[in-house]
Amino acid sequence: MALQDILDRIAAAMAGTTDRGTVATYIPELARIDPGQFGIAVALDDGRVLSAGDAAVPFSIQSVSKVFMLAIALGRLGDGLWTRVGREPSGQAFNSILQLEMEKGHPRNPFINAGAIVVTDAVLAGRMPREVLAELLGFLRAASGDPGIHINEAVARSETATGFLNVALANFMRAHGNMQNPPERSLGVYFHQCAVEMTCVQLALAGRFLAGLPVSPPMLSQARVRRINALMMMCGHYDASGEFAYRVGLPGKSGVGGGILAVAPGRASVAVWSPGLNSRGSSKLGTEAMERLARETGWSVFGGAS
Ligand code: GLU
Repeated sequence: MALQDILDRIAAAMAGTTDRGTVATYIPELARIDPGQFGIAVALDDGRVLSAGDAAVPFSIQSVSKVFMLAIALGRLGDGLWTRVGREPSGQAFNSILQLEMEKGHPRNPFINAGAIVVTDAVLAGRMPREVLAELLGFLRAASGDPGIHINEAVARSETATGFLNVALANFMRAHGNMQNPPERSLGVYFHQCAVEMTCVQLALAGRFLAGLPVSPPMLSQARVRRINALMMMCGHYDASGEFAYRVGLPGKSGVGGGILAVAPGRASVAVWSPGLNSRGSSKLGTEAMERLARETGWSVFGGAS
């Protein structure tokens, strides 16, 4: 079946699904998003972008931003980053502080909140927060080839007003000497990076460098891309990362806005969005759509269709 037909069928199946999960309610801007929406976009190695459903509707990328900040951090700091954050799956919720206490302020990986805050802190490195946000937007715009990507300031304000657990994580790491900047500065960047808005089409385009597809200018070396993919496979869905690897078999990263970015190395970058979440905080229909796409295309990195 042609890929466009597969996407159209997936979008039609998702439109007819009544059990759509629950939208995030911790800030009003996410709580009022219509759970009836679903979009999917696929950027291919030949330059085409195919899409179906609500693929042109902007949504809050939330934790998907952690992948791009990690790419920037590795580009700037190289392997020195790994003295501050680990590379192991956590098996814990995204905002858990449990392991952080046992492991003395050294987060398990860059995709749980504590690890992402450390990555952002490392990129900030004494600069002004707005410089880092400009760098992130510049990176996303260059990677996608779309100058329209922006931050939703209302979402950033709400994140700042409610992010008490993130404040706690940052202060906990500060007490253990694992923050270089005043926590409120690093958190200011972190809350704004979560508030970046993108469409599925923009996100699929921005993920091309992670899939090893041709992008001009090149964003990151293939050696680093390979490592980011490994981390997405092992840690991209928090305590449901094993489940995503089992069901989909692609490196991916989810966000509580309902977006998921996944890459089929050498073939495609895929973005899905549906705002209803499953019990682990990833898009319910987005995960189902990724599973179906991987099955019908045979794109799983572990091989074999169906
Ligand atoms: N803004 C959310 C937080 O930092 C992002 C969580 C997510 O997308 O998984 O708690």
